[in-house]
Amino acid sequence: MQQYRNTATATPRYDAVIVGAGFGGMGAAIQLKRLGLDDFVILEREGDLGGTWHVNRYPGLAVDIASFTYSYSFEPNPYWSRVFAPGAELKRYAGHVAHKYGLRRHMRFSTVVEGARWDEAGQYWTVHVRGGETITARYLLTATGFLSQPRTPDIDGIETFRGMIVHSADWDDSCELAGRRVAVIGTGATAVQLIPEVAREAAELTVYQRTPIWVTPKLDWRIPRPVQRLFARVPVTQRAARMVNSAVLEAIMVVGVLHYRQARFTNKGAELLARAHLRRQVKDPEVRRRLTPDYSFGCKRPTFSNEYLRTFNLPHVRLETTPIARVEPDGIVTADGRRTAIDVLLLATGFDLWDVNFPAFQITGRDGRDLGSWWRTTRFQAYQGVTMPGFPNLISLNSPYSYSGLSYFTTIESQMRHMKRLFGELRRRRATTFEVTRRANDEFLDRVTARLADSVFVLGACASARSYYFNQHGEPALLRPTPTLATLREAGRFPLDAYTYA
Ligand SMILES: Cc1cc2nc3c(=O)[nH]c(=O)nc-3n(C[C@H](O)[C@H](O)[C@H](O)COP(=O)(O)OP(=O)(O)OC[C@H]3O[C@@H](n4cnc5c(N)ncnc54)[C@H](O)[C@@H]3O)c2cc1C
Repeated sequence: MQQYRNTATATPRYDAVIVGAGFGGMGAAIQLKRLGLDDFVILEREGDLGGTWHVNRYPGLAVDIASFTYSYSFEPNPYWSRVFAPGAELKRYAGHVAHKYGLRRHMRFSTVVEGARWDEAGQYWTVHVRGGETITARYLLTATGFLSQPRTPDIDGIETFRGMIVHSADWDDSCELAGRRVAVIGTGATAVQLIPEVAREAAELTVYQRTPIWVTPKLDWRIPRPVQRLFARVPVTQRAARMVNSAVLEAIMVVGVLHYRQARFTNKGAELLARAHLRRQVKDPEVRRRLTPDYSFGCKRPTFSNEYLRTFNLPHVRLETTPIARVEPDGIVTADGRRTAIDVLLLATGFDLWDVNFPAFQITGRDGRDLGSWWRTTRFQAYQGVTMPGFPNLISLNSPYSYSGLSYFTTIESQMRHMKRLFGELRRRRATTFEVTRRANDEFLDRVTARLADSVFVLGACASARSYYFNQHGEPALLRPTPTLATLREAGRFPLDAYTYA
């Protein structure tokens, strides 16, 4: 840590601890290295790197943002096999990035962080790891993901089921589906990918739906070798594909969702497309009716698929919309008393965000301020989706108002930019401690709150969407309601007096 003068009274073991070895944690690590902070450790709960793309291995897993866009802009991969690459390729890409940027040697796997406390006297963080070990570091960077804590439904009798129960985020390769009677609970983004694959194998498939999802066509195809070679030899061609794709996503997600008041027609256009797709794909009008969401497009992250909806035309696939009353040792009983015998139960029930993941472990800042209770008793908030007052030297990458809603790499790279400006200023001042001011934080929160007044979340009909964009208080506190280019610009130009330095 040569360039940074150590004004603190004690020397911690590391410059930085990063929690989480997904793309977020790896992006932060690359940025720390660029900033000359090379003495850091990445603590990861799982047995390998990749986060989402290490943990999720269910059949049909693929990105739902085109691969030209879903990757680091500074590390393009010309060899994606499809426009929407399968999950295994993302896992390989994560391995490639870790190797190229020398990140593996910093990683410690099977290491669960249980808490972190700011040490006022020493001006560093003490990180508590399961098993009793403590690790000290000047900076703490949390990259624990939004979608990293699987949710298992609390259904009466589920523990009595005698067949196999598999959560999509904990896929078991020994799970035999061929010729079996299978139930899938959930119809979110994961289910949209999983259900067509299960239908190919199962003898009978019953899909239990609580909330239908908007599905639009997926413009997916194999990327031929000559195109891959072109991307490799003339990188500007792949950059152009990325730009076009990002512009389309921006129109759907940012303009149509966040500027709903001004550009409702974009949102309505996307909804009409999804309705036409449903009409084309599903023959039975009653099934079609039950697959039609009653909330506005964009209240929940929309999905893309050419397979999902038409799976419900198959004679051995049934859509069940009556609520589940209980699970029995060999079947599921719905609230109207009907019983469906099953052999395998697949849970596509998603992830716990707001109750478990904000934050993913206990973080205690200045004056004993507990981040989880502070967020819950005041409001979920983070300056630029990165830092909070009362939590010096903490970079919280999965924060309220941090996610652009587009490719997650947009968020990661804007946060890397924020780090560059912040740590650059620390170095210029020869300081080691930063803390966002209450004023900057409050102004940012007021600004995003005001902007959200124009969004579909406030003006549309979102009550029945059960969307993870909304927290437990009904606030849409996940997405940052500013255009992507403005977010990137601000990450590189935020006022330096938004922070205090010591
Ligand atoms: C099935 C699925 C498909 C997705 N597809 C897309 C897509 O197409 N496009 C898109 O933009 N986004 C997609 N996402 C969102 C995806 O999570 C992000 O794009 C991105 O991978 C998040 O990276 P991350 O590093 O922030 O979090 P993660 O990848 O979730 O990594 C967080 C890491 O932190 C670790 N961790 C958590 N708590 C602790 C702890 N207490 N101690 C130690 N380690 C801990 C976890 O084990 C995990 O490895 C998808 C998510 C899922 C689940």
